[in-house]
Amino acid sequence: VTIQEVDLRSFIPEITSMIAKKASVHGIDLKQDIAKDTPEIQGDPGQLQQVLLNLYNNALDAIVERHGAKHGKMIIKAEGNKNGKVEISVTDNGIGIDPEHQKNIFSPFFTTKTVGKGTGLGLSVCYGIIDNMGGTMKVSSQKDVGTTFTVSLPVG
Ligand code: ADP
Ligand code: MG
Repeated sequence: VTIQEVDLRSFIPEITSMIAKKASVHGIDLKQDIAKDTPEIQGDPGQLQQVLLNLYNNALDAIVERHGAKHGKMIIKAEGNKNGKVEISVTDNGIGIDPEHQKNIFSPFFTTKTVGKGTGLGLSVCYGIIDNMGGTMKVSSQKDVGTTFTVSLPVG
C-alpha cells in the first residue's frame, strides 16, 4: 500500500478507459462527469482502482442482466469539495437490487449471481478499502430501474 496524492480528474478517466471496450461490446452508453474543481485525495491508487473496477463490473453485469445488448447506460461522476469530502458515484440503469437484499450486499460472499460467476467479495473488499481511507460507501437502488453507488472520501 503506497499512499500518495491522487488527482481524480485524470485518475477516474484512466480507470474508466479500462472498461470502455467491454461497455461498447454490450452497447452501453458510458459517460463521465468529472467536475473541473474536483480536489485531490490521499490514497493508494491500486486500491482505488480495485474499488472503481469492482463498481464498474457490477454495473456492467446489472445492465447486461436487464437489457442484454441494448439501452444500457452508465455514468461516473465526481464532485467536491463538499464539506471536506469528494463524492464519486457510479450509476447504472441495470436490474437494480431487491430491497431485502440491500442490507446484505456489503457482506462477504453475498451474491445473487449464478454459481461460479460471482464470488460475493467485491463490495465487501470495496467497503473495507474505503472505510480504511476514512470514507463511506452508500447505495441507492430501485428494482428494474437502476443503482447508484456513492463513495465519499476525505479531501487531502
Ligand atoms: P459479486 O459481484 O461477486 O456478486 P459483489 O460483492 O460485487 O459480489 O456484489 C454483491 C451483490 O450485490 C451482487 O451479487 C448483486 O446482487 C448486488 N449488486 C452489486 N452491484 C450491483 C448493481 N450495480 N446493480 C445491481 N445489483 C448489484
Ligand atoms: Mg462484483
